[in-house]
This record gives sequence, C-alpha cells and structure tokens, in this order.
Amino acid sequence: MFGRWFKRGGSNTQADGAPAGGGHLIDLRDIVKTYQSAAGSFTALKGVSLAVDAGEFVAVIGKSGSGKSTLINMVTGIDRPTSGEVIVGGTPVHRLSEGQMSVWRGRHLGIIFQFFQLLPSLTVVENVMLPMDFCNMYKPGERRERAMMLLDQVEMVDQAHKLPSAISGGQQQRVAIARALANDPPILIADEPTGNLDSKTAVAVFKLFDDLVKAGKTIVMVTHDNDLARRASRSVIVSDGEIVNQYLARALPRLSLDQLITVTRQLDRLTYEPGQPIVRQGGRADYFYIVTRGKVEVILDQPGGGELIAEVLGEGQYFGELGLLGDTERRATVRAAHDNGTVEVVALDQNEFNTLLAESEATRLDVTRVAEQRLAASAA
Ligand code: ADP
Ligand code: MG
Repeated sequence: MFGRWFKRGGSNTQADGAPAGGGHLIDLRDIVKTYQSAAGSFTALKGVSLAVDAGEFVAVIGKSGSGKSTLINMVTGIDRPTSGEVIVGGTPVHRLSEGQMSVWRGRHLGIIFQFFQLLPSLTVVENVMLPMDFCNMYKPGERRERAMMLLDQVEMVDQAHKLPSAISGGQQQRVAIARALANDPPILIADEPTGNLDSKTAVAVFKLFDDLVKAGKTIVMVTHDNDLARRASRSVIVSDGEIVNQYLARALPRLSLDQLITVTRQLDRLTYEPGQPIVRQGGRADYFYIVTRGKVEVILDQPGGGELIAEVLGEGQYFGELGLLGDTERRATVRAAHDNGTVEVVALDQNEFNTLLAESEATRLDVTRVAEQRLAASAA
C-alpha cells in the first residue's frame, strides 16, 4: 500500500486503487479532540478538517494553546481523535493499533520536535541510524553509510562522532532532521522546530525544510514565527480549537482573520453524489457555495431543451453569488460532476453572505466582479 510513496520499489502506483481521502496525502476529517482530566473535559479541537496534498509546505500558526500540537499529533498518531478520521497516504491512522502505529510512523513520517529529542548517550551518527534499526529499513551494513550521507545533507558530517551534548542547539536540530529523514519518509511533521533556536539559525533550518520540499517531501510545520510561516507555501490558522476553512480563505482571500474565523463557524457542509444537482436554474437563491472537494458543473438550460455546461468549478471556487447579489432566482443549474466521486461544498446562507459583503468592501468588489464576468459569459 505504501510502495507508491517510495521512489524505489517500482510500479505499484495505483495497485490498491485510488487512496482513500479523495487523493489528498493527508486528510483530517471532522476531528474532535476532547481531553478528560480531573478538572473536567476540555475540547482542544472542535471538528476541524484539513487536507494537505503531496509537495505542499504547510505552516500551522496560531496562539499558544490554540490546538496546533494537538492537530499535528493527530497526523503522527501521537494522539488519537475523540471522533473524526485521519487518513494519511490512504491509511486510516486513527484505526491502527499501537503496534501498527509505531511501525507505520517509523516508515512513513519523519517527526521533528522543538527540543530535538536526540538520545544523549548515542553519538550523532548513531542517533540517525536509530530509525533504520527500529524499522529494519535498509540492510544493516548500509545504515551507517546512509546516516553519514544524510548528515552530509544537513552539513553535520564532521560532527558525526560527537555526543549531542557537545554540539549547539542549531546543530542538534540539523541532526534531528537527518534522523527524521532516515527512512526516507514522504512526509515530515515538525512542531515548532525553530522554537528553541536563535533567528539566524532558525532561518537556516527553515531553508533546509524548503530544500526538502523542493526535493519532493511534504512538510507540515507548526511555527509561532509568522515571518517564517509566510515563506511556506500555505498557512493554516488555528484559533481556539478551530481552523479557518482553507477553501473559504482561498475563495475570499480579502477577508480579515477574524472574519475568516467567524464565517468558518457559519459554514454548513454538504455532500452530493456524482450528477446530483446542488442548485437548480429558476429556483430561489438562498445560499452561497464554495467547492471543497471534487468538481461541479455549471449548466445553462438551452431554449431547445438541451443543456450547456458553461463552466466547471473546482476546490476553492464559489457559485451561487449571482442570484444572491441580485436577490433573484438561480440563473444556472449547478450539479456535482459525474466523474470525480462525492462532491463536498460549504454553504453560507443569504443573510450571513450579505452581512459579510457589507463588512468587507474588498470582498464585495471581488465577488461582484466575478458575478459580472459570469453574467457576461452566459449572455454571450
Ligand atoms: P498549542 O500547540 O497550539 O500551543 P496544544 O495543542 O498543545 O496547543 O493545546 C491545546 C489546548 O489543549 C490547550 O488549552 C492545552 O492546555 C490543552 N491540552 C493539550 N494537551 C492536553 C492534555 N493531555 N490534557 C488536557 N488538556 C490538554
Ligand atoms: Mg504546541
């Protein structure tokens, strides 16, 4: 099942069919995490969904205590959801037993922590060999050479025989990154990896991550450093156990952070089977929609009785604005495309939509412009 993650091993790309999770490499769905303690229960994640595709470099940002570590601990299986699903590379991580989990994690994820967590009694090179030994990856005779090669990549080969206590924090983090790469995992998960480093060293470590993404890795990195986050390919904002809906942020990028969080809470999630209509031409306009999974077809009924597919919209694109702006009936039918599996959308009702446009002039202008373009196209 995991063969397709590794370049070696050849041609098993679709041998198991398409991975679960709609093709996303990491797919967290409706995750609720409630901690129970003597003081009562505390819900650290309130039904969050997050999809990460192969090759992305995602920065997870948010205030201390907002739930960032809890969120990425779902991906690594360090912690389990109270409810919801965690699909990584097609594997339902939340259903693995502890034993399966540690083997799976060792082979498919590289994990990097704020405090490096190297074993103090082992040398640098022995620390890097450890995951290969643990997961029995690579021939025993090849492991040291591979570890040295990885240390070379992070410019630590000349420190290979020192103990962790004999090198600086920045150097320890480089070693921890080499260790995370030991089994050539497709995904690296890092929780505040630069949190314990001075800013110059932090930039150097970030550069290393950037190079790894260019070399084909997928990285999810929690950081409190907004300057570094901006240099990732995408930021995910966690606020009080919720994350800003990434499709909303993509569709309406000019909303403020507070508006994004408010609207995220207002969104209704709806699913449609292939071919199923979402809105019908001539029907009353009552919701604004953003596609969050799959594709939808915008269809204009033709005078002769046929239909014309005017547009196909994908993830992060919206529809339904035309009828709402004009407070009129639907001008087109929109249905789930036939060939892309279940379609998911989020919907905002008319009142919430109008309030939002009244509060964000930039968004109102953007949405109006799109509506005018669509109107012109459908009239042509
Ligand atoms: P962040 O990484 O964003 O600083 P965390 O994910 O570590 O935040 O924590 C989110 C919230 O969940 C915090 O309020 C924290 O106190 C609480 N929390 C985290 N782990 C536990 C736990 N094991 N038991 C109880 N509460 C916890
Ligand atoms: Mg944390």
